Amino acid sequence: MKYDINKIRSSFPILHQQVYKKQFVYLDSAASAQKPVQVLMKEEQLHNDYYGNIHRAAHFMADKATVEFEAVRDKVQKFINAEYRKEIIFTKGTTESVNLVASSFCEKYLNEGDEIIVSEMEHHSNLVPWQLAAERLGAKVVKLPFSDNGVLQIEKLPELINSKTKLISVAHVSNVLGTINPIDEITKIAHEKGVAVFVDGAQAAQHISVDVQKMDVDFYAFSAHKMYGPNGVGILYGKKKYLNEMPPYQGGGEMISEVSFEKTTFNELPYKFEAGTPNITSVIAFGAAIDFINEIGIIEIGEWEHELLEYATSKLKEIEGIIFYGESPEKSSVISFNIDGIHSYDLGMLLDKMGIAVRTGHHCADPVMQHYKIQGTIRISFGMYNTKEEIDVFIAALNKVRIMF
Ligand code: PMP
Repeated sequence: MKYDINKIRSSFPILHQQVYKKQFVYLDSAASAQKPVQVLMKEEQLHNDYYGNIHRAAHFMADKATVEFEAVRDKVQKFINAEYRKEIIFTKGTTESVNLVASSFCEKYLNEGDEIIVSEMEHHSNLVPWQLAAERLGAKVVKLPFSDNGVLQIEKLPELINSKTKLISVAHVSNVLGTINPIDEITKIAHEKGVAVFVDGAQAAQHISVDVQKMDVDFYAFSAHKMYGPNGVGILYGKKKYLNEMPPYQGGGEMISEVSFEKTTFNELPYKFEAGTPNITSVIAFGAAIDFINEIGIIEIGEWEHELLEYATSKLKEIEGIIFYGESPEKSSVISFNIDGIHSYDLGMLLDKMGIAVRTGHHCADPVMQHYKIQGTIRISFGMYNTKEEIDVFIAALNKVRIMF
C-alpha cells in the first residue's frame, strides 16, 4: 500500500498552522510527537461516554472504563510481542519505568560492590536512576563507551562484564546520535554471563518494529507521548521471572492483596507495580495511538522516515562548516549537528522565527556532549508526518541564517 502522507497529515490539525506567519515545520518529534485527531477524540469520548475509576467499583461506567483500559494492555502486549499481558506495566513515562526497575530490581538483586553497565550515549533518565540506586546500595555504574562515529563499542562488553555485573542498560535508539543499537547482540553476550538487560526504547518504539521476545530483552521501556499518544503514560515491559521476584516500587491502592497493621500482602502482576489511580484517560487514548500506528504500519513509517533521514543528511552535507554527531550506519530519525562559528542556541532561535521547530542544547545527554567536548547541538527529528518539502524549507532557512552570521 502507498504511504499516503497527505491523509496522514490531515489527522494532525496542529501541522496546518502558521507560526510567526510562516509555514509551521515541526522537526522535534523526538522530544514529543504531535497527536492525531483520533487520539484527541478518544480522550473526549471517554469523558463524555463512560468515565469512572477503574478496577474497583461495580457500576456500569467503571466497568466500561476498566474493560477499555485493560484492552490497551493487550494492544501493547501485541505491539511489542510480549509473551504475557501481565508483563506490561503502565507508568508515567520512560523515566518512571527506569526508576521502577532501578529501585525494585536493584533492591532485590544488587549487593554492595556489584556493578551495572550503562552505555555512554544514554539520556539522563537512563543513567541517573542507576547512579542513585548504586549509591544507595554501595554498587558501581560502569561506562560502555561509543566511538566518535556514534557506534557503541560492543566489542568491549565481554571484558566489562565480570562476576559482579548484574545488569546492562542501553538505549535501543540514541536521542542525540540516532544510533540504533544491536540489542540482540547485547542480550546474547549478557545472558551468556547471566546478566539482565534493560532497554530504553523511548526513541525506538515509534520508528522500529519492536519484538521483546526476539530481542530477548529482560526489560523494555517507552513513552506514549513520543508515539503520537497522550502525555503522562509510559510502558514498562519486564519478564515475569524478574517482576515476580521484585518488591513493589510504590505502596498504595490496587497494588495490595490484603492489608492489616500486622502484615500486608501484594497483588499479582501487573497490579503489584501499579499503585494508585493510573492515568486512565491517557492510557485509553494511547490505545487509539497504537491503532493509528498499526493502520499505517510501523514498517512503512520506518521506511518513510529513513527516506527523510537520507534526504536531509545529503542536503545538510552541502552546508559549509557543518559538523555531524552520530554517523552510525544503523540510524533512526534523528540528526544532530553544529555549524562552525554559530552557537546552536542562536541558530535554534532564528529558525523558530522562521516557523521551524528544532531542538538545541545538551538533549539531556551530558555524557554525549562531554564525549565530543561540546556544549550542545542542533537536533532535528522526524515523525511519520514530515515531508521532503519541509526539509527543503528547513535547509533554505538554515542557509539564510548561515549567511546572516
Ligand atoms: N530516554 C530517551 C532516549 C529519551 O529520548 C527520553 C525523552 N527525551 C527519555 C528517556 C525520557 O522520556 P520521558 O520524559 O517520556 O520519561
